[in-house]
Amino acid sequence: MAKCAFCRKLIEQGTGMIFVKNDGRQFNFCSSKCRKNLFKLQHVPRYTKWSKAYEKGVQKNKEETKTQ
Ligand SMILES: [Zn+2]
Repeated sequence: MAKCAFCRKLIEQGTGMIFVKNDGRQFNFCSSKCRKNLFKLQHVPRYTKWSKAYEKGVQKNKEETKTQ
């Protein structure tokens, strides 16, 4: 199963879409919301609260602060 290029969540079979750019790069998206956030709104997944990449970033920051 593919992961969403923006929110990094697993995409259920039969849902989502594959977006192919003019340069041939493939992007899997779970929803139009993720596609719009990446290309139209140009949001960064790490700074978008509802994405898994953000959760991971927060956890990393916590670990870093613990070790210091
Ligand atoms: Zn997504």
